[in-house]
Amino acid sequence: MSKIAFKAESKRLLEMMINSIYTQREIFLRELISNASDAIDKIYYKALTDDSLVFNKDNYFIKITADKSSRTLTITDTGIGMTREELENNLGVIAKSGSLAFKQENEAKEGHNIIGQFGVGFYSAFMVADKVVVTSRALGSSEAYRWESEGAEGYTIEPAAKEEIGTEIVMTIKPNTEDDQYDEFLEPYRLKAIVKKYSDFIRYPIKMDFETQ
Ligand code: ADP
Ligand code: MG
Repeated sequence: MSKIAFKAESKRLLEMMINSIYTQREIFLRELISNASDAIDKIYYKALTDDSLVFNKDNYFIKITADKSSRTLTITDTGIGMTREELENNLGVIAKSGSLAFKQENEAKEGHNIIGQFGVGFYSAFMVADKVVVTSRALGSSEAYRWESEGAEGYTIEPAAKEEIGTEIVMTIKPNTEDDQYDEFLEPYRLKAIVKKYSDFIRYPIKMDFETQ
């Protein structure tokens, strides 16, 4: 007898995942930093086999900024970026891990340190944000695109402007409620502590320019 595949209510599934997969909200930052590190690693890895690409370590970093007045927390990386198709395939398909695919394709070779594999890390941003805007320009492309979502309802993708190769993720942090506090994710001391706790091993510089704001 042929098997019938289960159908899933993607909206409910996403809500469940966001609210139950992670026990601590603060780990969203670890997930986004891991993705940024993976994206830089992909350029590093590409440069090993592509002579036209020079990997100068000084040009690669992850940057975190927070702005209390607009309640935005921004993570920028100078990694490999995403094309329109990649935004759709990587951020529009829940539990599809681009990094796992990358690891499997490159298993026999060395030189990378890719962290992701479950394909759910990105969505942890919705534990603390009610809106996430990802602007990305892929290596080798002159075009940039903006992926925007307020969570379970879905997402939009449209052309955008971006000078540098890489990805910028702007999260609008949820307002505090009687039961849940989110303001801490806009506090420099708190963000620094989370980075230290979970992302100390990251091989690329994590810049935090809170003082200049
Ligand atoms: P995983 O890291 O396990 O693959 P995620 O949900 O964390 O799963 O991310 C899904 C995919 O989205 C990644 O595999 C990657 O292809 C893409 N992605 C996420 N963040 C970035 C980023 N900052 N730069 C480039 N690609 C990214
Ligand atoms: Mg990940």
